[in-house]
Amino acid sequence: MLENTLHNAERPQDLIVYAGRAKAARNLSSLEKTVSLLKSLEDNETLVIQSGKPVVVLRTSADAPMVLMATSNLVGKWATSDHFEQLERRGLIMWGGYTAGDWQYIGSQGIVQGTYQTFMEAARRHFGGTLTGRLVVTAGLGGMGGAQPLAVVMAGGVAICVEVDPARIARRIDTGYLERSTESLDEALEWAKSAQAEGLPLSIGLLGNAAELLPEMVRRGVAPDVVTDQTSAHDPVQGYVPAGLDGESLERMRADDPSGLEQRARASMVEHVRAMLAWRGQGAVVFEYGNNIREQARLGGLEDALSIPGFMAEYIRPLFCRGIGPFRWVAISGDPEDIAFVDELVLTSFPGSLASSWIPLARKHVRFQGLPARIAWLGHGERAELGVMVNRAVAGGKLHGPVAFTRDHLDSGGVSQPLRETEDMKDGSDAVSDWPLLNALVNSAAGADLVAIHGGGGGYAGYFQSAGVTAVADGTPGAERRLANVLTADTGIGVVRYADAGYDEARDVLSSVGDIKPVRGWQE
Ligand code: NAD
Repeated sequence: MLENTLHNAERPQDLIVYAGRAKAARNLSSLEKTVSLLKSLEDNETLVIQSGKPVVVLRTSADAPMVLMATSNLVGKWATSDHFEQLERRGLIMWGGYTAGDWQYIGSQGIVQGTYQTFMEAARRHFGGTLTGRLVVTAGLGGMGGAQPLAVVMAGGVAICVEVDPARIARRIDTGYLERSTESLDEALEWAKSAQAEGLPLSIGLLGNAAELLPEMVRRGVAPDVVTDQTSAHDPVQGYVPAGLDGESLERMRADDPSGLEQRARASMVEHVRAMLAWRGQGAVVFEYGNNIREQARLGGLEDALSIPGFMAEYIRPLFCRGIGPFRWVAISGDPEDIAFVDELVLTSFPGSLASSWIPLARKHVRFQGLPARIAWLGHGERAELGVMVNRAVAGGKLHGPVAFTRDHLDSGGVSQPLRETEDMKDGSDAVSDWPLLNALVNSAAGADLVAIHGGGGGYAGYFQSAGVTAVADGTPGAERRLANVLTADTGIGVVRYADAGYDEARDVLSSVGDIKPVRGWQE
């Protein structure tokens, strides 16, 4: 899993997996030592890793995790960007993001699936379960935002994606994530109109600045059905490009006048969000996609910006309440047939699940990167059931090797992030990070193979505390027992968290399952 994560990394030579700085190991020497220790680890030993550096092998037990790690955690008052940067420069810490630091990254399949899930949830809630004939307007075709056009097309809709950088548009076309591009708003609108009329899916990259083009579309009376945004608004200096600045002036301001640039970027974001609000007023479904543009616009003086809902609270939380989230598995054999086998198991065992609608699309649109892997949103109970079925298939020789089960930290039980996953919790417990810490503890106790506790490390990218888990189906009876326990405990603590916060969907799950026993009167 470590080597697979690096295989899929953006800059493997620097051990950087994604998001510009999320690493899989502290440095080359730590990487080499980790690999060699993993190869010689005994059954009753556990390797302990501190922010990407292996520090000790301890005698534990055959049921204990092989690997335990803690990454980018800082004590509250010192959890600032500045302090983190100082420590990183001194080689004392590394930023692990979510799935980079604990070796669970499987390439861009996860991003496409998560984005598809969000659009499909909007479609289910507002448009009878499909985006066919619907127009989605968004911006940003970067590392994550680049999944938007493909996800909208998979959901049946038409996407106009505004992007200021022509190279990003070209990249999305080359990799098959985007179908057409144009510099002309008229042409984009014409293409969109005829695709909508014919009920055909289409993705269009429109070159330009969102802070100019979105207000222009509002002026022209364009009426999208869904509006969101994935420009790099979280960073008004290095990320978001303000209106009216050419590339050269932008770079100059980045170097010489970052605070002037920040103000200009925020002023542009005010115009950008004003257009989103205008469409919201006209009845479009508008949500923020976790890039902090609402807060930036508010800082720029647009108080109303915060009336736009975040995608997590709006579309994903009801799924998290049922323990449904981005579960994934990796064929350690490297044989795509193993994934095809598990695909069939999911399709036959969980008909009607989100996973069963995703798998046929993934087979058609998603190429494997590195070891063959599948991401599919399964919920509490389903994950444990699948884990046990796959372990038996490994034991019965129906698969060519073990299968590693894991998940994103962005999951039911895995994270507290008050601006995203846990924004606007019913009981106000947004920033309580006891929950992901408990998640890691229970997964350890249940016998996972790898458990990690990640802190944000400071800065906007660091507003989280999270936990990662991996459990391997190797066909042994011990693995069957551990998989059943881990995959129940992992989502179980998630469901309990949402039930505790007062969500009925989560309380319904708890009253209908027999595998978790909440303490009587616990929710009072
Ligand atoms: P990125 O930096 O790779 O891409 C951002 C893109 O926006 C770039 O291509 C840039 O050219 C473009 N852009 C910047 N300003 C623009 C403007 N004014 N008009 C048009 N285009 C503009 O970033 P990314 O990895 O794609 O992520 C995008 C944002 O979405 C980030 O803020 C990220 O944190 C957020 N995000 C959050 C989640 C989540 O909540 N789970 C998921 C995906 C993305």
